[in-house]
Amino acid sequence: MKYIFVTGGVISSLGKGLTAASLGTLLEARKLKVAIQKFDPYLNVDPGTMNPYQHGEVYVLDDGAETDLDLGHYERFTHCCLTRRNNLTSGQIYETIIMKERRGDYLGKTVQVVPHVTDEIKKRIRLVASETKADVLITEIGGTTGDIEGLPFLEAIRQFALEVGMENVFFMHVTLVPYISVAGELKTKPTQQSVAKLREIGIQPHALICRTEQTISKDVRQKISTFCNVPQDAVIEEMDVAHSIYEVPLMLQKERLDELICRHFRFHRRPARMSAWKSFVRCVVNPRHRVRIAVVGKYIELRDAYKSIYESMTHAGAAYDCGIDVINVDAEDIEKHGAIRHLKSVDGILVPGGFGNRGTEGKIAAAGYARRSRKPYLGLCLGLQIAVIEFARNVAGLKRANSTEFDKKTPHPIISLLEEQKQVEHKGASMRLGAWPCRLITRTKAAGLYRQKLISERHRHRYEFNNNYRDQLESLGLTFSGVSPRTNLVEIVEIPSHPWFLGCQFHPEFQSKPNHPHPLFKGFIGAALKARSRQSHR
Ligand code: GLN
Repeated sequence: MKYIFVTGGVISSLGKGLTAASLGTLLEARKLKVAIQKFDPYLNVDPGTMNPYQHGEVYVLDDGAETDLDLGHYERFTHCCLTRRNNLTSGQIYETIIMKERRGDYLGKTVQVVPHVTDEIKKRIRLVASETKADVLITEIGGTTGDIEGLPFLEAIRQFALEVGMENVFFMHVTLVPYISVAGELKTKPTQQSVAKLREIGIQPHALICRTEQTISKDVRQKISTFCNVPQDAVIEEMDVAHSIYEVPLMLQKERLDELICRHFRFHRRPARMSAWKSFVRCVVNPRHRVRIAVVGKYIELRDAYKSIYESMTHAGAAYDCGIDVINVDAEDIEKHGAIRHLKSVDGILVPGGFGNRGTEGKIAAAGYARRSRKPYLGLCLGLQIAVIEFARNVAGLKRANSTEFDKKTPHPIISLLEEQKQVEHKGASMRLGAWPCRLITRTKAAGLYRQKLISERHRHRYEFNNNYRDQLESLGLTFSGVSPRTNLVEIVEIPSHPWFLGCQFHPEFQSKPNHPHPLFKGFIGAALKARSRQSHR
């Protein structure tokens, strides 16, 4: 087993996760079995309780783990099967250690960062390595070199390299080479200093991934090589991508990063064949068609909050050689100005997941507008709940229908808590989480799209459709096209008399890949494209 550690220097948000994932793509294309995990130095046990403004999207795995959004990149860029073991936080480590200490497992010893915290970290590397039986395990260390919180992780990987043998380890440091326009120069000093920080800890990187806006000249490469003590061919340029994140693997391949790593580990593999990936990128970068999709949400200024949704739309678009123009609409603006003003010119309307009251009335108005104007509608999780509330209010005439999340005293709790959720006191990891089976009803839109009877989709919510209202809404034209086989919970609703109107209680955006778009997204974007061509023929 070989180990690649990805650290980051100078500043955060350099796209370390994307770089790690892209390396995974390339190594898989060289027919290596890859495993990939992320260490996050923060003290939260998982990001599940964090606000999207703090952390961006919470990415959910099959086993119900609420993880960092970089795991989304890993799943989209590789075929790795991820579980809760693939995202370790300092919070988890301390939780484990304190529990052990209270149980008396340390037999009276003083419990310390070194060796107890570092041992837990190393244990996790070994565990993931032994469970996945991969050729290579890529481990990304979150945060920036020099952070106090990150130190135990760096110390642990330094020790780990010593234990498994240096020849089995590759340290890759992602760093910034800024362009200073007044000087007209790329500056290498920040990189030198962050490598110096790493070496202080005892880690000498094997390769530097230099994030830059400008091409790195031969001289600059030479300088970085000399001062950072890495060979020139291990100074890898990673330019800001012009159009799409899916260009990153191709860029790293051009810089021969995968070749360098294979040489280091003495893997004798053929060069990566990337033709399918390239044609996907071609469709993303230079599509023949375009559609305008409104995402009506609450965290719209923050691109990371709905990351997997945007990616899923991109994947679906590529299947039709179609680019997506995302129109971010703040649900509160719809409350102020009405739906027509913000949604008239779009080809499809998507309401994503969300929590809390703010903006819900705007989202309900958006769903209502989609239903009446016959524009394609896709509701994800909260987006299903919103659509059903709108239907209950305006088609069934249940005027004050609502979710008990937003109105505890509503006379028509169309969306409400199950008994078991009412007992829940802890906020962390206590929702309906992870993969649940769903049975599709034949001759529905959903069944046609999936072409399967039984599907499995990932969940992250507390509230559910209230089955007491099922017959009433069904008689008025709402179809319940997916239900949970064991519990009979509603998972998918649709309006068959509408060209394309569908809501799902789960999150399909966590299971879409380039060249394998999710059926629901594919259906939705296909419908939006049709709506657009109808519009232009008018
Ligand atoms: N707030 C809703 C619930 O808890 C929806 C959650 C979501 O959209 N992820 O059920």
